[in-house]
Amino acid sequence: MRNASLIIHRDNFLYNLGETRRLAGPGIKISAAVKANAYGHGALAIARAAEKGGADFLGVASPAEGVELRAGGIQMPILLYGLCLPQDAGVLAQNDISAAAAGGEDIAAFEKAAGRLGKKARLHLKIDTGMGRVGCRPQDAAALAWRITKSPHLVLEGVFTHFPSSDEKDPSCTQNQIGLFSRTLESLRSGGIDPGIVHASNSGALMQYPAARFSMVRPGIILYGYYPSAEVPRLFAAKPVMELRAPVLFVKAVEAGTSVSYNRTWTARQKTFIATLGVGYADGYPRFLSNKGRVLIHGESHPLVGRLSMDQTMVDLGPETRVRPGEEAVLFGPDPAGPDAEEIARIGGTIPYEITCNISLRVPRAIK
Ligand SMILES: *Cc1c(COP(=O)(O)O)cnc(C)c1O
Repeated sequence: MRNASLIIHRDNFLYNLGETRRLAGPGIKISAAVKANAYGHGALAIARAAEKGGADFLGVASPAEGVELRAGGIQMPILLYGLCLPQDAGVLAQNDISAAAAGGEDIAAFEKAAGRLGKKARLHLKIDTGMGRVGCRPQDAAALAWRITKSPHLVLEGVFTHFPSSDEKDPSCTQNQIGLFSRTLESLRSGGIDPGIVHASNSGALMQYPAARFSMVRPGIILYGYYPSAEVPRLFAAKPVMELRAPVLFVKAVEAGTSVSYNRTWTARQKTFIATLGVGYADGYPRFLSNKGRVLIHGESHPLVGRLSMDQTMVDLGPETRVRPGEEAVLFGPDPAGPDAEEIARIGGTIPYEITCNISLRVPRAIK
């Protein structure tokens, strides 16, 4: 009935979350990033696992992602990491979703919406200490925090910043940011403002900068079993959560000189068996793997041959095979014998985040 499918290894997610908690240390809250459909893994299932695993917050990227979790019955705190448009302040307050704010206009929109609903909107003031994306200037933070604190419709639930280079070896940028953020917090506190939950660390910073843990950490990729880069120290053996599988649909013998797939980029040098798998780039299996990737069948590695197409991918089984239609190939996952999303990312010159995020919605996700 089905072609490519995903198995989501919940135990591995819970293991990574447990190790993250151990690394963060006692009393430090955890905000698990479940944005982008939980990096492609399925937001609702991962949110439930995070709730079970004792995460304190869930991080989303848009109001719609937060509302989807609430509609799915998630009751734990949710934080919108990015900014929203003023017209979305109401839906966030209505759904008890905490939100980032970075300027007077955001604050005014939340104040108005929360006042209208008779609710208190919970805000996290975002300070730009060097990311250069969103956030207020450090010198404006105290005045903005004060505005939130003194509003009857708003709560300053937290203050945060974000690191662009915490996954790099050179610590200078991140250390400067930690210093600037700490001084900014000091200016808030000396002005009588309680910053609430203070947070800065993504997965890279969690691995490299104990001084950046403050009162909460915001891991993402590490919970899904991958490291943010090759440069960060691997402080625990993270276990991949996502496994992509596809059925063998067809097995054929080809003679030397036979070409395979579009543009005939591969030709058999000797007699061999070719399997056609029910997976392609429309499933989010990257086309750059053509003639470069590999899959596991019966625990053995087989190379991809020819162009990977929209819905089908061919592998070379060799001159003798016992592989039959209906059997399954593992395209990537936690099995150490096979490829993982990091190996695939390396081939494509990208990061594992992009590999898991891009698995398309037509691929069913089964939680295991
Ligand atoms: C996505 C995100 C994170 C998590 O980043 P990872 O590199 O996946 O750990 C943390 N903070 C913010 C603001 C984010 O947008």
